[in-house]
Amino acid sequence: MNEGSERKPRVRREKNFIVEENVDAIRWPRQCAACQGPAEVIENLTLERTLKVVGKIRVEVAGIPYCQACVPKIRRNKRLDKVRYVVALVAGIPIGLLLILAVARRPGTTFIWIGLLMLIGIAIGYGLAYLLVKFPVKALLRGRFVPPVEAWLLEEKKRDGREGASVVISIPNKAYAAKFAQLNGL
Ligand SMILES: [Zn+2]
Repeated sequence: MNEGSERKPRVRREKNFIVEENVDAIRWPRQCAACQGPAEVIENLTLERTLKVVGKIRVEVAGIPYCQACVPKIRRNKRLDKVRYVVALVAGIPIGLLLILAVARRPGTTFIWIGLLMLIGIAIGYGLAYLLVKFPVKALLRGRFVPPVEAWLLEEKKRDGREGASVVISIPNKAYAAKFAQLNGL
């Protein structure tokens, strides 16, 4: 078989790109994936996940280009997201407990309810963390943050019916995402 140029990724597009096969054959437009500036730095993402059927798998999404200027902005963006998660938990857990207290006195409250209320509390905390942390910080320090390309593994059935994993690729820069789609035959 003629390997290399013949090998094509199988990709579909929903909200994100979903690579069903041959993620190593994905091609990246030679521009910064965050701002379309010059491609100066290459980033690889290593994904790991344990799947029910196949066990632990490890996939590399390689060759994502960025410009030098975007590298610190991406790092800042990741740090800000971490702060947001912490704030979401710090605010969300007490909100969840309050919801549980409010409901627990009623008869018929089960553990399922308690878990659900805690999830609702954390979801509210996540929203609050956006309003209190992410939104104001980004508004105040405009241009100092840029969201990177992200990827994660999705467990799903393949076309041939086998259980397996697809790679989800999220490209926040819309213009770059359009070029990526074109380059990969979408
Ligand atoms: Zn850039």
